Amino acid sequence: MSTSLPLTDRLNRPIGVLRLSLTARCNLACPYCCPDVEEPPGLLTLEQQMRVIRVATRLGAQTLRLTGGEPLLSRRLLPLLEAVAQARRDRSDPMAGLQAVALTSNGVLLSEPMARALRAAGLDRITISLDAAEGGAAARMAGLQGGAVAGERLVRQVQDGIAAACAAGFDPSRGGLKLNAVIQRGINDDQLLPLAALARQQGMELRLIEYMDVGNRNQWTLDQVLPAAQMVERIHARWPLEPLGRPRGGTARRWRYGDGAGSIGVIASISEPFCGDCNRLRVTADGQAFTCLFSAEGTDLKPALASELQLEQAMRQLWQRRQDRYSEERDPAAAASTHAEMAYLGG
Ligand code: SAM
Ligand code: SF4
Repeated sequence: MSTSLPLTDRLNRPIGVLRLSLTARCNLACPYCCPDVEEPPGLLTLEQQMRVIRVATRLGAQTLRLTGGEPLLSRRLLPLLEAVAQARRDRSDPMAGLQAVALTSNGVLLSEPMARALRAAGLDRITISLDAAEGGAAARMAGLQGGAVAGERLVRQVQDGIAAACAAGFDPSRGGLKLNAVIQRGINDDQLLPLAALARQQGMELRLIEYMDVGNRNQWTLDQVLPAAQMVERIHARWPLEPLGRPRGGTARRWRYGDGAGSIGVIASISEPFCGDCNRLRVTADGQAFTCLFSAEGTDLKPALASELQLEQAMRQLWQRRQDRYSEERDPAAAASTHAEMAYLGG
């Protein structure tokens, strides 16, 4: 088996992160995301997932992020984490090169036993998504019926999930626990300060995400995007911020609070695209590989999954051919192009 590293694409970008989706289904229905109700046929088995992760790490991936849909809905999550942890302990396994195993979740199912089980199974980091601190906006953003009351219940559930994760050892001050929020102009941009206050209280980094034109169901328009610079300005006016920059291969441009209460990050894929050093490979729950979040179609890895050698060839070729830089080329004036859905891709 070949071990020639580093592998780079046509724009000289290495693989750094494998984002593996475990399910396309979700227990929320955020209108900006619009998840599938049913699972695609042919979900990868545990053995196939391990094969994909092993080959991705052999090709250079150092971070594994498990996502969905909602990954806590997947019965495959804990067995997969346990298998990955075992492989990371084996020095002869390429997975020993993994520096972090992370999870993105809406936090609704993050009970105390679940948080402890995730930690015990070897999970290093959790990013929890919550788009509002107040009930009405939280319900709107999560697609909940039942207005402010339902939204308040969601915010409480997620806060309980945050407390459970902290208690289980996911330490926000070491990057073990972060908060993601998608901001839509006129829909939840009044939640910027309440969300920042909530994250500051918990010592978590808040990551503010520009609303992106992923998928076809959310009716994205540019006027619903609040540029990251404006998000930063509004928070800076309340709690002064100092720039920390964006690490190479990272998605977030980060800022530190001048008063020492932690940091925020902004993911500005619309207003300040970062395709130039994009190092993410996405694999869906049914084994479709996507090299760009904004692609219409993936490459089916299933025919190659029978052997690790074949899979390595397929993934290597896919990465070597890669030249996508959709965000940098986006033309909001052009007719909307077709994109795969966010909950299928895993964000
Ligand atoms: N269900 C999990 C969650 O919400 O964290 C994991 C999957 S979700 C697709 C991953 C991330 O993508 C979430 O932080 C979500 O807010 C973000 N996301 C979904 N649709 C988006 C969109 N159109 N623009 C920007 N971010 C989006
Ligand atoms: Fe579900 Fe996450 Fe999509 Fe919201 S963003 S619908 S929580 S997959």
